[in-house]
Amino acid sequence: MREIVARDEAVTRELWDRDEAVKFFGEQGEKYKAEIIASIPADEEISLYRQGEFIDLCRGPHLPSTARLGQAFKLTKLAGAYWRGDSRNEMLQRIYGTAWASEKELKAYLHRLEEADRRDHRKLGRTMDLFHFQDEAVGSAFWHPKGWTLFQSLIDYLRARQLASGYREVNTPELMDRSLWEASGHWETFGELMFTSQTADERTLAVKPMNCPGHVQIFKNDLRSYRELPLRLAEFGKVHRYEPSGALHGLMRVRAFTQDDAHIFCTTDQITSETGAVCDLLLGIYRDLGFDDVLIKFADRPERRVGSDEVWDRAETALKDAMDELGLEYTHNPGEGAFYGPKIEFHLRDAIGREWQCGTLQVDFNLPGRLGATYVGADGDKHTPVLLHRAIFGSLERFIGILLEHFAGKLPLWLAPVQAVVATITSDADDYALEVIDTLEKAGLRAEADTRNEKINLKVREHALAKAPVLLALGKREVEQRTVSIRRLGEKAQQVLSLEDAVAALDTEIRSRTKA
Ligand SMILES: [Zn+2]
Repeated sequence: MREIVARDEAVTRELWDRDEAVKFFGEQGEKYKAEIIASIPADEEISLYRQGEFIDLCRGPHLPSTARLGQAFKLTKLAGAYWRGDSRNEMLQRIYGTAWASEKELKAYLHRLEEADRRDHRKLGRTMDLFHFQDEAVGSAFWHPKGWTLFQSLIDYLRARQLASGYREVNTPELMDRSLWEASGHWETFGELMFTSQTADERTLAVKPMNCPGHVQIFKNDLRSYRELPLRLAEFGKVHRYEPSGALHGLMRVRAFTQDDAHIFCTTDQITSETGAVCDLLLGIYRDLGFDDVLIKFADRPERRVGSDEVWDRAETALKDAMDELGLEYTHNPGEGAFYGPKIEFHLRDAIGREWQCGTLQVDFNLPGRLGATYVGADGDKHTPVLLHRAIFGSLERFIGILLEHFAGKLPLWLAPVQAVVATITSDADDYALEVIDTLEKAGLRAEADTRNEKINLKVREHALAKAPVLLALGKREVEQRTVSIRRLGEKAQQVLSLEDAVAALDTEIRSRTKA
């Protein structure tokens, strides 16, 4: 590579005749390239790039000469890949590389890769015994007891926050008739991603890919008055989407996931105050979970849209006013809104600088009218409500993946599935260990005993690997003095406290949700 860079060879683009190109590569034994050229649509150009002796098919663009590549590059890996991604085809060699403008940027990138690998939630899922995947349920997680405890802790937390913010929780069917999805428009626009099921009486039911139409049914099930608005319905809704298997990635991209979904039915006048309340709630929750760096992106009307310009003007202004009132900074993505209304996206920046879009708030002028939802206004007439779609974590599964990678598995005490491991140093401490567990559990802590006849160092190592945040070691001295030796994950030092003081300290830390 360095030699080629030093040669400073010009890279030039050539347009070839299709048949000539097929013949040229065919004669060189490059049958795959010939096949690719033959498959390029007839109205597209066939471009080749030449650099010294070497010529290859490429869409481009390219650097003008090899010297421009600079020195900040690295070949990262070699891997086999099946031709066209199909295991029945021949295996080809693929060489991966990366190039950057400066050595410093290259270094930073490589460091990020290393960190990302160390933090990979799929690995942590194994070592922490949280979840697994298997071929019989592609893209759907099997949650183990510890993983499900984490999952439920997040739900408990969010549920309490939502209820305190005026949301009401509902639950809607996972299987609903095709006709509902046709009415909502999802059958047409989303159909390929939907799982369906045929009943014995020949009805087609679809597994819900989203919760919105279900929530509209609850709204419609009663005669609604303007006095009930805003009506905020929330659901931890399990949805299924048929993602191609190549796109799946651990918990980050799955086929079955749980949305922390909510729909706010309101009037146009209420969009600003509801948006403000959503932003407030969402940013507070992100802070509690250790994400202080949140990027907010505002997206307005696209070319293809429903609704009059006047209504769009009002909705866009309402969203911006809400953010301005809170003094929030945001970027503007012109034309990136949904066809049914403008939206705000919330992106979290994690510990290694990656951005994850989690929260959304979307204004919807389309769905309520489409599904016939109305309320009686102060004027006694029927009106169509505005619908705000809102999610904070987005997908609980994916959010847990993000949390695990952000904290590298070292979850804050309040979220850790097992908060304290009580490990005996000698079997003389077994009875005391049970008493300690009992005291911890009575105080509401999730604790586990390790009374195996093993060396304490081995126990410490194993529980550190499983990312238990606190280890309480009990030996002869602890039994006699009714104390515990506390060791925090990742720290060498130990602190000896009375059992009561230790429980009180852990309890305070959990309640305050401080980061260790
Ligand atoms: Zn929705």
